[in-house]
Amino acid sequence: VPPSGRSSVNQACCQRIFSWIPVVIISSVVLWSYYAYVFELCFFTLHNTLEKVTYVLVFHVCFVMFCWTYWKAIFTPPSTPSKKFHLSFSDKERYEMEERPDVQKQILIDIAKKLPIFTRAQSGAIRFCDRCQLIKPDRCHHCSVCETCVLKMDHHCPWVNNCVGFSNYKFFLLFLSYSMLYCVFIAATVFQYFLKFWGELPNDRAKFHVLFLLFVALMFFVSLMFLFGYHCWLVAKNRSTLEAFSAPVFQNGPDRNGFNVGVRKNLTQVFGEDKRLWLFPVFTSQGDGHYFPLRTLCESQNPLLASEGRWGEDGGSDEDSTGKRDTTVAQRVQTVPRSA
Ligand SMILES: [Zn+2]
Ligand SMILES: [Zn+2]
Repeated sequence: VPPSGRSSVNQACCQRIFSWIPVVIISSVVLWSYYAYVFELCFFTLHNTLEKVTYVLVFHVCFVMFCWTYWKAIFTPPSTPSKKFHLSFSDKERYEMEERPDVQKQILIDIAKKLPIFTRAQSGAIRFCDRCQLIKPDRCHHCSVCETCVLKMDHHCPWVNNCVGFSNYKFFLLFLSYSMLYCVFIAATVFQYFLKFWGELPNDRAKFHVLFLLFVALMFFVSLMFLFGYHCWLVAKNRSTLEAFSAPVFQNGPDRNGFNVGVRKNLTQVFGEDKRLWLFPVFTSQGDGHYFPLRTLCESQNPLLASEGRWGEDGGSDEDSTGKRDTTVAQRVQTVPRSA
């Protein structure tokens, strides 16, 4: 291995290890809170048996649900576009051999006609991922951390060290909910002992744990509250975080409400039909992540098939919501050397 190659391997390895630090921090805080609550508070401080048993039982329900949803949010791999969105070998060859940008564009348009795609890049070009060599399905974006295209990508979350997208959005929302429940339960039950802090608590160690339990629980609750509120609003509107920042572009231009089919349907899209499973981290989201119902869908026609000319060629800037590394076809066309 050449030295430069070795150092880049080392760097990638370091990055992978460092990326787990936020998860390790959260897990350590949660493990400490378990010890502080169950042992220091319930076993060593409480005298009333009924109170003790109730607290321990309810605490464990919250704790188990929190751990389960956190685990699922971390370890559910992001779903990637299916094979039919990748360029076939012959299409790839045809695309790469072609020197004229217009013809290249047309090749992608022809391939996209066979796919359920309703959104385009800002420029009106087909959304194409250079790195993965695929035509991006609606709501799909390339994650530069995961180095793959992620279906209905919401954001890359360092706290779960994973991409939040179609495969784990429900788990992520439940993780936020149960984290808040966990914090609220701790804060509510610890508060009275916090008031007794200076006087009645038997030992200094318990004082320390009770004090910190309350502060940490309240601190996490307040920060989670804003994030959770924001995601509730996003679910109700059927937008991903990326779409909230940069509206998806449809035939008639950008439309933030393009996938908004009403609060009820938006909710079932993420949580599924069966209400009994809403509160459990099992996958119940509707669809396959490649296609999403549109607010204004004329069932009989695929807008892309209907009138190519209606997609404006002067669609403004080429910014894509995924940032600089996410090249649109238009950008690619500009950068492909003529001699390629
Ligand atoms: Zn990609
Ligand atoms: Zn990612």
